[in-house]
Amino acid sequence: MVIQTRFDRDQKVWFHRGSQVCDGIVFSINVEVPYEGVKVKYTIQYNEDSGIVLEEDKVFGSEEEANCKVSFEEYKGFCESIENRSMYDGRGKGVDVYECNKCGKKMFTEYADKGVTPFCMPCDCGGTMTHNETSYCKVECYQRHGFKIIREWVRPTYDQFVKLSLGQQEHVMNGGLLLEGEL
Ligand SMILES: [Zn+2]
Repeated sequence: MVIQTRFDRDQKVWFHRGSQVCDGIVFSINVEVPYEGVKVKYTIQYNEDSGIVLEEDKVFGSEEEANCKVSFEEYKGFCESIENRSMYDGRGKGVDVYECNKCGKKMFTEYADKGVTPFCMPCDCGGTMTHNETSYCKVECYQRHGFKIIREWVRPTYDQFVKLSLGQQEHVMNGGLLLEGEL
């Protein structure tokens, strides 16, 4: 049986000790085989040289992850459920053109994942960029607008998700996508 572990020996990890988030180093990885299934245990060497044993689901790969309300397993399950949910799927349905009402700047976006995107968003100039057109052919979009940079709407990986603000995490858990360059 192959056991997948998320952590390596000597890797820095975070864990809960009481109400505090502490960090330590993975000292050794032990495997326990209970009545059913396989359980992996990590032995963590704590800062003060006091070796303590923690269950797998209480060890985290980053401080943000240790503080995140949504666990890795919950997020994985959520992402896998998206394909079966009834929501708009913009993949392969052209290039969305956003235009600023103040400076006239245009932005071109495409869906890399299935999910929800905003109708408007703030522009650097202080104005508002609104989705006012969809070009159904990429080549046509290039020719008409003379533009070659198309940004992608993506669902963040778990490592990216834990670093988002609470508001952005809520947006993602409601099916929302984010622009790739903003992660
Ligand atoms: Zn603008």
